[in-house]
Amino acid sequence: MCSMKSIEDIRGNFPALQQNVWGKPLVYLDNGATSQKPQCVIDLVDRMHCGANANVHRAMHKLSDEATALYEGAREKVGEFINAPARENIIFTSGTTASINLVASSFCRKFLREGDKVMISGDSHHSNIVPWQMACEMAGASIVVIPVKDNGELDMEEFHRLLDEKVKIVAVEHISNVLGLVNPVKEVIEAAHSKGAAVLVDGAQGIVHCKVDVQELDCEFYVCSGHKIYATTGSGVVYGKKELLEAMPPYMGGGDMVDTVTFEKTTYAPLPLKFEAGTPNFIAQASLAPALEFAQSLREGEIAQVIEAEERKIIAYLKDELQKIEGCTVYGLGWMQQEGAAEPQWGAPGSKIPLFSFNIEGCFPSDLAQLLDKMGVAVRTGLMCCEPLMTRFGVTSMVRVSFLPYNTLQEAEYFIASLHRAVRMLR
Ligand code: PMP
Repeated sequence: MCSMKSIEDIRGNFPALQQNVWGKPLVYLDNGATSQKPQCVIDLVDRMHCGANANVHRAMHKLSDEATALYEGAREKVGEFINAPARENIIFTSGTTASINLVASSFCRKFLREGDKVMISGDSHHSNIVPWQMACEMAGASIVVIPVKDNGELDMEEFHRLLDEKVKIVAVEHISNVLGLVNPVKEVIEAAHSKGAAVLVDGAQGIVHCKVDVQELDCEFYVCSGHKIYATTGSGVVYGKKELLEAMPPYMGGGDMVDTVTFEKTTYAPLPLKFEAGTPNFIAQASLAPALEFAQSLREGEIAQVIEAEERKIIAYLKDELQKIEGCTVYGLGWMQQEGAAEPQWGAPGSKIPLFSFNIEGCFPSDLAQLLDKMGVAVRTGLMCCEPLMTRFGVTSMVRVSFLPYNTLQEAEYFIASLHRAVRMLR
């Protein structure tokens, strides 16, 4: 792993990428939905199932001690990866959806009152919409939406205009899973704080493509899923500021989250266990340690430059080639849509990640996806769990291709050639 020098070296770590589908080499471009797993993660899961499979925090035996050490070790790793001040800030969940539900339910029970507002970004995934609607309904509060501009960027002028003291929390996407643009979350956080509002950053995509420092961001909550960043499914995180997590009521009740229990009253375990009721998905959470070590190794030294160069080529290539297709609309081009606009710094607000959503006149997205699949190319179509954003752009479906560092320019070229073939078949 440490000797990775090329994209081919990275790919060598992923058994799933070595397969053929329908007799063609797999070109996996559905990474926005979930990543493939490197061998180090597969080995850890295997090792735990074969040797260290016992419930965490509970028993006085070797297997349980080993599982607990791996589970808590992963918590340390997550904290280090996002620069959290302490292990108490890191709550394990089953994924971003569970994380946002936890915060929406628990934060809002404590802090949201009738007449208050929750502000969400217009590019939100359903999991950053529905839990807030549910919480607002309980409290008698309402939702305010930061609009999305035609080029996919958040309308920050409107954001500043809509933000007032009634807003108790702003829940913003770090990077939309449809538009692939890095949102100006630091600006959102500073403005929200000036009005006394907390901020939750949905980092499901952000954690994968940006270096995240929660202390530098100063957000109250940062949430993400493990499975999009090489860990196995069923792993997720809430980072929260300690004073807030301490003030918030538990989300779920049950084993492991208690201090003492009588039939009359229960006192709760200290953080982070207060928010981790029941048997956690401890093997999935433990897999975050090798997964994040792997992700970290791609962000350092020579290989980081190799990846950036390849991603830059992929982005420029796809932008040009998709736009050359007659009747193709590409969503979320951001700065690239404007002639002569200055390119933001790589990874900084406004920059584009290698993720493109588009539609082609005369071709149903689902037909394109099926034909591409037969050519070995895995893409995503449909609402992408962002129905309001689809409505904003006047469509009911899009096609999305999303890349990770193990994807190559050659794969992007094969995808474009396959897309041309599919379009010819459909028109
Ligand atoms: N937010 C965003 C931006 C996402 O991309 C996703 C997953 N597509 C989610 C939230 C939900 O994540 P999960 O399904 O892992 O809970």
